[in-house]
Amino acid sequence: MNILNSIDEVRNQIKTWRKEGLSIGLVPTMGFLHEGHESLIRRAAKENDRVIVSIFVNPTQFGANEDLETYPRDMKNDESLCFSAGANLIFNPSPSSMYFDDACTTINVAGLTDGLCGAKRPVHFGGVCVVVSKLFNIVTPDKAYFGEKDAQQLAVIKRMVRDLNFDIEIVGCPIIRETDGLAKSSRNTYLSENGRKAALILNKSLNLSKEALKNGERKSSIFKDIIKEKINSEVLAKIDYIEVVDSLTLKPVTNIKASILVAIAIYIENTRLIDNFTYKA
Ligand code: AMP
Repeated sequence: MNILNSIDEVRNQIKTWRKEGLSIGLVPTMGFLHEGHESLIRRAAKENDRVIVSIFVNPTQFGANEDLETYPRDMKNDESLCFSAGANLIFNPSPSSMYFDDACTTINVAGLTDGLCGAKRPVHFGGVCVVVSKLFNIVTPDKAYFGEKDAQQLAVIKRMVRDLNFDIEIVGCPIIRETDGLAKSSRNTYLSENGRKAALILNKSLNLSKEALKNGERKSSIFKDIIKEKINSEVLAKIDYIEVVDSLTLKPVTNIKASILVAIAIYIENTRLIDNFTYKA
């Protein structure tokens, strides 16, 4: 297993693997890896001859008041997790090697990025789409792996790949949770002991709305109220958004008929956490 920082070195390695007829899987990450990332890497290792994990805290997807400077990093741990999960190569570029000073190309997956996290983080998906496209062009993977934890990101990447004819299969992987239900996230590390307990409200509130679905409720407004009431019962939690949207178009739905995504974002002690589930009617 190897760690490469330069785009040229990665391209050379890819050429060698391609000459050998090997298939390549890519797992894009921002590092500080946990079992959620690990599940993507393991899946990629099962389905491809070679797996590249990119570790890059991408500056262009962070807004001015977000946590770019404090984003947690632990390369040593990332390295051992990648290798034990079956990765063959880590691509860990510097921001200056990824971006030209006068780079001016943007990608806008219009519509799909208007709501949910896109509404709250206006520069986020533009940054994600450009960096993911660059990684796709550098690595030219057969398959790329993304978590359902970031459901809007997954939908946006799928649409971008279709619209721009990237010859890459996008594989969505289920959300990996702590034993108490909190979705694993690199940002969970920001939470205090009390904040960590309070964060369980994400999963608990979603579970309540799942119950309502099971019991035949089909009005989005009712789900939102159920989730809202539950989250408001936790004093440390502040709602950022609660949305029920069509899982393909990400447009809000009023009555649940097709496949929907219930997605929420809350703040706990200034840390923004997201969670979601998909339901197929
Ligand atoms: P990040 O490093 O946060 O940018 O995440 C890299 C990839 O890992 C993204 O595709 C995420 O959706 C995925 N991921 C993060 N947390 C989880 C989780 N708890 N379960 C499954 N996938 C995850």
